[in-house]
Amino acid sequence: MMKKTMLATAIAGVLALSACSDNKPATEQTAAQPTAQTAPAASTEATMSNPLLKPSPLQYQAPQFDLIKVEHYLPAMEAGITEHAAEVEAIANNPEPATFDNTIVALEKSGGLLERATNVFFNMTGTISNPEILKIQATMAPKLAAHGDNISLNPKLFARIKAIYDGRANAQLDSEALRLVEVTYERFVRAGALLNDEQKTQIRALNEEHSKLANQFSQNLLQITKDIAVFVDDKAQLAGMSDAEIAAAAEGAKARGQEGKYVIEITNTTRQPALAVLENRELRKKVWEASAYRGTTGETDNRPIVARLAQIRAERAKLLGFPTWADYQLGQSMAQKPQAVLDMLNSMVPAVVANTKIEAAAIQEMIKAQGGDFELQPWDWEFYAEKVRKAKYDLDESQVKPYFEFERVLQDGVFYTMNQLFGITMKARPDLPVYHPDVKAYEVFDADGTSIAIFYADYFAREGKRGGAWMSSFVGQSKLLGEKPVVVNVMNIPKGPAGEPTLVSYDNVTTMFHEFGHALHGIFSDVNYPSLAGTSVSRDFVEFPSTFQEDWAANPQVLANYAKHYKTGEPIPADLLAKILKSRSFNQGFDTLEYMAAALVDMEWHSLPADAPLQDVEKFEAGALKKHGVDFAPVPPRYKSTYFSHSIGGGYAAGYYAYMWSEILAADAFAYVQTQGGLKIENGNNYRKHILSIGNTKPPMEAYKAFRGQEPTTDALLIRRGLKPAVN
Ligand SMILES: [Zn+2]
Repeated sequence: MMKKTMLATAIAGVLALSACSDNKPATEQTAAQPTAQTAPAASTEATMSNPLLKPSPLQYQAPQFDLIKVEHYLPAMEAGITEHAAEVEAIANNPEPATFDNTIVALEKSGGLLERATNVFFNMTGTISNPEILKIQATMAPKLAAHGDNISLNPKLFARIKAIYDGRANAQLDSEALRLVEVTYERFVRAGALLNDEQKTQIRALNEEHSKLANQFSQNLLQITKDIAVFVDDKAQLAGMSDAEIAAAAEGAKARGQEGKYVIEITNTTRQPALAVLENRELRKKVWEASAYRGTTGETDNRPIVARLAQIRAERAKLLGFPTWADYQLGQSMAQKPQAVLDMLNSMVPAVVANTKIEAAAIQEMIKAQGGDFELQPWDWEFYAEKVRKAKYDLDESQVKPYFEFERVLQDGVFYTMNQLFGITMKARPDLPVYHPDVKAYEVFDADGTSIAIFYADYFAREGKRGGAWMSSFVGQSKLLGEKPVVVNVMNIPKGPAGEPTLVSYDNVTTMFHEFGHALHGIFSDVNYPSLAGTSVSRDFVEFPSTFQEDWAANPQVLANYAKHYKTGEPIPADLLAKILKSRSFNQGFDTLEYMAAALVDMEWHSLPADAPLQDVEKFEAGALKKHGVDFAPVPPRYKSTYFSHSIGGGYAAGYYAYMWSEILAADAFAYVQTQGGLKIENGNNYRKHILSIGNTKPPMEAYKAFRGQEPTTDALLIRRGLKPAVN
């Protein structure tokens, strides 16, 4: 996962944080109740001692974590907003005619304090959260949103940007400057800057209705999640669950005032974890139905909301000059056009459906072998798939983990690979302050010994840390500001018992490579303007550099270097390794099909024109699945519309496809590099030059073609997922 900086986000006038895993709904800031009480003006003494108020004197402005205290965040962010607003006003009211330097560059230079304070603060909200931090976050969210609106809807400022944009052909700008003008202009246009007053009134009304309905949609989901939990009276019905799971189910029921019963909670996807273990078929059906029919009845019926939200988005798009919401949304993506997304997904359908049907046949056979006399239904899939998996690849984590000792994976796996590919070396910097004792600081040196960045490693799970894994930046890279990257990787690896080494699952090994791929995107950034730097690329591109690194974990040369038994130092046995790698392609037909079905439904909802009538939700969804040939009954979409938070909730509307788009690029690029000799510095340098160093200074497809010599195809992804045989 990759976190965009708050400032870029605030300026863009949207609050979208890109997420790595699609298990969670897209992070959205809830509009907090404005507090009646405003923060007291910082006293001179507090101002003097607030380390966030001035650039850190440490190397590359690494944050002074030893001096920063919780009470520093709010005054620093508020001062940052005030300062930034004044800077923007000065730019907008400059009596000189607008030039690239006095407007666009001036904007790039503005907001330093706010950027510094938010970068540190939003890392804290994810890594050492506590009620005090949450309260500050709730106070700041609406202020940051309003600040972003004030900038993007400032007519004087936009008039200057438009004048520069209109005259850009004759302004003798270099290609990066030209790109910056275009990206900046489009950002304002997309926020509504070109609209006349009447249209602005209309869009504001639509925005208001949208935010009300989107909020109602998620409120309903919260309520539904509470209401539809499945209660079981008789413990015998839970056969298949572990003792710990049964105990938790009893605890859960008690907490809901149903002592003596057991509760099965419904999680956010259509598929439910309990379905993999429950032996009682009737109960499985009940759990599945509770999940799949969410939001279709009673007071929390989400169907009218889904239909109206699709319509509102289409109307908004029309006002902004786009035929559909998907056209609007994709304008700044690598895909560019909805048709490109549909073409990509459709090209994969035959292989994915064929493989899913092979998986279904194996499951049907397992049902028969276990004495079942019924046709496979959605609520049977995971239960019998689990039996097929055990029969095919019985893989015991406790056998695997001793070969993946944390420090060895990091030093001899991740850092070693990056050294072989790019020539970089990592040097521990225990002298730099950190925000938690588990965090380690490193300085990154280039192949020629030049120091290029600071990297913080925050790998271990702990209380107060948000789940999942991500990368974010404390300091961005920019030649304009003379700044070098200071980045962090955050993960949730369970730490070994005191005095013992930490052993890592293979999944977490690949995640360490993944997150370091995001880190490199920041570390290797080599651009002039901060808002084009590093990971500030489109959502369908941002997971490419990270996913690209994952597969090095299984490279034979890399494995031989790090996968050694933590006690004996023996290399991992070949048959065990083969089992690990093979088991990763298990059930990929199902996983891919349920994802694609959801992505296609998302695209269809947002391809409606503004004059389309309100849709019948179930009919529309069924029609979309059928239209694209992904209507295979045992594998329903990963999310149905009535609980599809990514898409209908708004964060990933016409954007759910992006995860797969990035993976296609990663798989295609990785396969290409293997044909060029694999793990060697020439390949790393080529990739660094065309992809990692350029940030958003070029249209992403152009950058990709410069690296690869052609556009990507989906073949490598299908092979990566085991859905297509590898050639030769
Ligand atoms: Zn990621």
